[in-house]
Amino acid sequence: MKTLSQSAVKTWEAITSTTPAGINFYDTPKCKHYFKLIYVDGHETPPSDAQLLGQVFEYKLTGQTTLHGVTPELPKLKNGGTSADERMLSERVEAVRAVLQHHKIVVKETGSTLQAEGMTGHLDAVVEVNGQPAIMDVKFTETKENDKWFGWGDLDKLDLLQPATYVELGMHTWGKYLPFYYLVVGKTWMRLIKIVLTTDDIDEMKSRFNAVRAALEAKTFEPSASWANCKGCKLADVCQHAAKMPEIEVYQRNG
Ligand code: SF4
Repeated sequence: MKTLSQSAVKTWEAITSTTPAGINFYDTPKCKHYFKLIYVDGHETPPSDAQLLGQVFEYKLTGQTTLHGVTPELPKLKNGGTSADERMLSERVEAVRAVLQHHKIVVKETGSTLQAEGMTGHLDAVVEVNGQPAIMDVKFTETKENDKWFGWGDLDKLDLLQPATYVELGMHTWGKYLPFYYLVVGKTWMRLIKIVLTTDDIDEMKSRFNAVRAALEAKTFEPSASWANCKGCKLADVCQHAAKMPEIEVYQRNG
């Protein structure tokens, strides 16, 4: 693997963390073979319903296709009419455009891929804020504004790997650290957050990349085929190791 993305780092960390087997927060089974199928062999995982909403939102807002160049589309109604989700997304896009205009934010470029120092990043948008260049990442979410679990309700819990990776890549591309903004859009709320990074945040990002790079050098991607892992795995159809049936569980009340 020549370059690593921040999502590859997060996926590897999720797989190798000490949480129990099964599908975790990032829709990731605890299985290193899953990592290989995506990041070494190049298999694409189908988006969840929530991810598809986000992809369609971004496409409507900036014209950005998916990482694989596909134009995302919501399923059509049987009668050919516009679905409630489609109408909701169009309404949210108009609301966002008004906010961007209010803050003098102009989208200059979407979907740029940057690479440097063995890292790669796919930027949602390069923008100008009051005429000054900046990096913007767009998150469409179905969570509530005060949902602490996903970070937006408690910014102290926000993982800064993505902003730190993108500003570092930007520094190698444009010769300076650009400001980084999250545009977070819910169904009934919206936030525009400027993430101010320190050198500690950049150092931590680099050490996380280095730790994963070192672990991957061993190239051991053994499958962890179990019902808990495989039943919700998005790549079970292409995986030759997938567990198709639940195992027999053993239960004894008193030893
Ligand atoms: S189907 Fe099972 S063994 Fe195969 S990648 Fe997914 S979790 Fe791993």
